Amino acid sequence: MKEATQAEINIGMIGHVDHGKTSLVQALTGKWADTHSEELKKGISIRLGYADASFYRCENCKGSESYSNKEKCPNCGKKGTLLRKVSFVDAPGHETLMATMLSGASLMHGAILVIAANEHCPQPRTVEHLMALSITDTKDIIVVQNKIDLVSKEAAEENFKQIKGFLKDYGYESAPIIPIAAHFGTNVDLLIETIEKTIKTPKFDSSKELKMYVVRSFDVNKPGTKPSELNGGVIGGSILQGELIEGSEIEITPGLEDKNILTKAVALSVSEGRIRKAKPGGLIAVQTLLDPNLTKSDLMRGQIVSKTGKMPAPTRQLRLEVYALKRLLSKSLGEVKVNDLLVLTVGTMTGVGNVVKQSGKNEFEVALKNSVVIEKGQKVAISKRDGSSWRLAAYGISK
Ligand code: ZN
Repeated sequence: MKEATQAEINIGMIGHVDHGKTSLVQALTGKWADTHSEELKKGISIRLGYADASFYRCENCKGSESYSNKEKCPNCGKKGTLLRKVSFVDAPGHETLMATMLSGASLMHGAILVIAANEHCPQPRTVEHLMALSITDTKDIIVVQNKIDLVSKEAAEENFKQIKGFLKDYGYESAPIIPIAAHFGTNVDLLIETIEKTIKTPKFDSSKELKMYVVRSFDVNKPGTKPSELNGGVIGGSILQGELIEGSEIEITPGLEDKNILTKAVALSVSEGRIRKAKPGGLIAVQTLLDPNLTKSDLMRGQIVSKTGKMPAPTRQLRLEVYALKRLLSKSLGEVKVNDLLVLTVGTMTGVGNVVKQSGKNEFEVALKNSVVIEKGQKVAISKRDGSSWRLAAYGISK
C-alpha cells in the first residue's frame, strides 16, 4: 500500500455559528470528513472534525486562476504542481462548545475567520474566537466575507467596513479579507492563493522530544465485534514537536485518575491512509493497545502523548500571572478574584478550578479539580461564567 502524506499544517475554521464554515470547507476541499464509513472499514477512524485538502498551481494559467484543489487544472486541464497539503479543523461555533474551540485553537497554525456578509460584524462569538487565537499566538489569519450573494453591493461594502474596524480593534488589521459565495464556489481560487501566501508552514523542530496534544479519541469497533477482533483505542491530535514512529512506546499524561498511561503507537494514519512516521503539523490518528472503552467519546481529549518520563509531572495547583482580555462586551468579565470559579484551557485540556489565593498584583493560585500537564511560561485561556454561559475572559501565564 502506498504511504499517505501528512498535512503540513492545521488551519482553523472559526467564526460565529451559521456563518457558513461547513460549506466553505466543502468548497475548499471538495469533501467534508463527517462520514467515516470508509475509515471504519480500515479499522482506524479519522473522526477529528477535519478535512484535508491539497493545493495545486497550474504553470499554464495566470493569477488566482492558476490555484486550485485539483491536480488537473479546472481551467485548462493541464497537470498542476502540488504546493501543499493542509488540514482544515472545524471549530464549533455553538455557545456551549467554546471549550472545544479553545482546545482546538492550540493546534491551529493559522485560521480562516468566516464572517457572514448579511449580519452585523462582529457577532459575540466572532470576537471570542479571534481572542482565542491571540492567546495561542496565531497570527496568520484570513477573513472570509461569506454569503456575498445574499446582499446588495452597498450592504457588502458596509459590512466590509465593519470587518475592517473590528480587525483593527483586535490587532489583526493586516489580515486579508476575501469576499466569497461558498455555495457557488465564487473566489475559492483567490482564497486558495491567499492561504498559500498568508498562512505559512512554521519551522518545526523534529529533533526535540515528542509532544503531541490529543484533541479527540474514539472507539473504532463496530458494536458486537468479538473481543479477539477488537481494535485498540484510537487517539487523534497534532504533534507540536518531535516525531512519532509507528510501533514506538508512548506515555499518555496526565492519564486517568492521576495515573499515567503507557501503551504503544500500533498504527499511525491520516485521512488518506497509513503513515509510518508522524511529524509536527497536520492532524494524525494513533491506534494504541488501549481498551477502546478508555478512548471512546473523546475521553482522552486534553492528554499529552510523549516518550516515557519526558513531560513535567501532572499538577492540580497552578500559579498564574493573569491578564484581562480587551473586549467590546462586558468589561468586568476580565477581572479575576479569589473564590472565582474558572475554566482553564491548558493545551487541549480543560480544567475547572477555584482561585484560592492572590499571591501578587496580578498573580493568582488556582486549585483545579483535575490534573493538567503544564510547562513554565505556557499560556492558559481563562473562561468565566457570564450569566448562563462561559465566556473567554482572560489569559494566564504559568509561573
Ligand atoms: Zn491551467
